[in-house]
Amino acid sequence: MHLDVWGARGSHPASGMAFSRFGHHTACLSVRSGDHLLVLDAGTGATALARALEASPPRAVDILLSHFHHDHVMGLPYLLMSLPAETDLRIHAAPECGLGLEALVAAILSPPYFPAGIAGVLGRTACHQHAAGAAFEAGALQIRMHPLEHPGGSTAFRVSDGARSLVYATDLEEPEQPDSAWVAFARGADLLVHDTMFTESEREVRRGWGHATIAGALQLADAAHVARLVGFHHNPVHDDELMSQREQELARVRPGSGLAREGESLPV
Ligand SMILES: [Zn+2]
Ligand SMILES: [Zn+2]
Repeated sequence: MHLDVWGARGSHPASGMAFSRFGHHTACLSVRSGDHLLVLDAGTGATALARALEASPPRAVDILLSHFHHDHVMGLPYLLMSLPAETDLRIHAAPECGLGLEALVAAILSPPYFPAGIAGVLGRTACHQHAAGAAFEAGALQIRMHPLEHPGGSTAFRVSDGARSLVYATDLEEPEQPDSAWVAFARGADLLVHDTMFTESEREVRRGWGHATIAGALQLADAAHVARLVGFHHNPVHDDELMSQREQELARVRPGSGLAREGESLPV
């Protein structure tokens, strides 16, 4: 299993050469296995994924959405539009905002948020609304969900192919100590992709914003005996120089760990 990174920024894209090493696009990752594609979030990185799929589009696509903040869904219409009409399309989420998944997806694909004309895409997209903590199958992959503390809610996903597993945990207020259910969810994962948006000083002034630090990610990675930690949801004002410093600090404490780079393919 490989996890392809199409966007690793949080909140909004980061433009300019000072951000080119870790990338510009917001949250989007994917796992391709033959004719099946699993997508984790559909931020602006989903537009790059859409272009990459043109040469050999998958027959079935499962899109897992952590939540509905702009940085996680802005690329969704472009990804859906780019896929051939015969593609088997499924969207999975556990929205906590009171609106149903189908209504949320319809709003993203419709005026006033998006020009009219892709109603057909909506008609052939199956929306699977799950309860927090649900488990289901996507192609040959097993998926488990875990609710996260974030304004409006967010969901972590554990993806397993039966032999290897990854945990995707972004947009979460880091706890003082991860509780036993959270540690159990991540236990033994081969790869943990975790929100590391804030420096320690940023976290001090932004408690309640629903994001984590490298120290918070390390706490879970160590408690759950995760093999490899990769930081994600990069602050869009952190340039390559600061990102490299933070990555070196992380790698010193936990060799082999790093911060996600747009365009890379992470072995799981
Ligand atoms: Zn976000
Ligand atoms: Zn968010």
